[in-house]
Amino acid sequence: MSRRKKIYEGKAKILYEGPEPGTLVQYFKDDATAFNAQKKATLDGKGVLNNRISEYVMLRLSEIGIPTHFLKRINMREQLIKKVEIIPLEVICRNTAAGTMSKRLGIEEGEKLPRTIVEFCLKRDDLGDPLIAEEHIHAFGWATHAELDEMIAMTLRINDYLQGMFAGIGINLIDFKIEFGRLPDLNGGHEVILADEISPDSCRLWDRDTNKKLDKDRFRRDLGDVTEAYTEVATRLGILQLNQPKGKPNLSVVTNEE
Ligand code: 5GP
Repeated sequence: MSRRKKIYEGKAKILYEGPEPGTLVQYFKDDATAFNAQKKATLDGKGVLNNRISEYVMLRLSEIGIPTHFLKRINMREQLIKKVEIIPLEVICRNTAAGTMSKRLGIEEGEKLPRTIVEFCLKRDDLGDPLIAEEHIHAFGWATHAELDEMIAMTLRINDYLQGMFAGIGINLIDFKIEFGRLPDLNGGHEVILADEISPDSCRLWDRDTNKKLDKDRFRRDLGDVTEAYTEVATRLGILQLNQPKGKPNLSVVTNEE
């Protein structure tokens, strides 16, 4: 990896210059952080699992017409993506109360929301990614009205599809966070496309029968068995090819490279 120029290093991923103009290589680290990086750990194999899960989800979403940055998986930890200008917003979509919404509004975790709610946070680590209103987005020019409309429409479509996809494997999609980017087009304009990742790091996924958390809350809340939970998600999605022995996941099964 050192042969490539590093463009950006985030908490869980690194972006390297890609082999062709307009491409980047997205590398998934094993690092986990929570509470604005106050809590940190390395979770063996998390990057491998998120690379595969995010690849799977992005491919399914492009099949239903969502434009994404994903081009192809290169190896266990890397994928080739389209280079975009990231829109500095985290778009959060919620079906069931949990996390900061429960804290902020005093709604018990697990309470089904009366309808799906889309929220926006400003991507600013130094401020702890604060919740913002659409008014802020317009006033400060972080996205245009048209871009925001497109992001909301895509988010709701993604939510509909992913709720069904996860329901099919016995998982409730509680909420998730996505990011979008601007991809230049040939006319001097640009298209808004889905970027970043969709994985158990960025979604809340609860087992339908037991409500067991199969996502990053296992790390945030010290529930243990974090990679085991991510492995469970990958196995149910049919990404892992072999039966897992009980206990520590054998990540070598994730290596069926093309
Ligand atoms: P909450 O606002 O309740 O902490 O998070 C809502 C949803 O968005 C959860 O699924 C959570 O994992 C995701 N989310 C919110 N902020 C971030 C973030 O900075 N990074 C990641 N990976 N996910 C986030």
